[in-house]
Amino acid sequence: MDDCLFCKIAAGKIPAKVVYEDERILAFDDIRPQAPVHTLIIPKAHYASLNEFPEGEASLLGHVLFKAREIARAKGIGETGYRVVLNTARDAGQEVFHIHFHVLGGRRLAWPPG
Ligand code: AMP
Ligand code: ZN
Repeated sequence: MDDCLFCKIAAGKIPAKVVYEDERILAFDDIRPQAPVHTLIIPKAHYASLNEFPEGEASLLGHVLFKAREIARAKGIGETGYRVVLNTARDAGQEVFHIHFHVLGGRRLAWPPG
């Protein structure tokens, strides 16, 4: 996707503070952090949102979740707690239409979310 911000980050065309990378996914810190730890995890392949995500790629979702756990541990919030957020479409506030998971923590997070 030529005009997709996160595809450009995945391709290294736009800089990001990368915290983890492998052949399938990339994790980088959010440019406008909402908590002391705020990292985004994206598949390198372009899927606009969970609504477009193919069932055949289900193992990729598991891979993302286990890496979220690993990143939370590496950033020191594995035990204090963290939230993995997947905003989908308008009412959830999705702004970037390349599926991404937020890993948030390092402070008490309100529930229910706003
Ligand atoms: P969402 O509202 O779930 O679509 O989240 C999009 C997130 O991407 C927001 O938290 C933004 O702060 C973040 N974001 C936007 N542009 C960049 C960028 N260039 N590098 C890192 N994070 C970004
Ligand atoms: Zn994309």
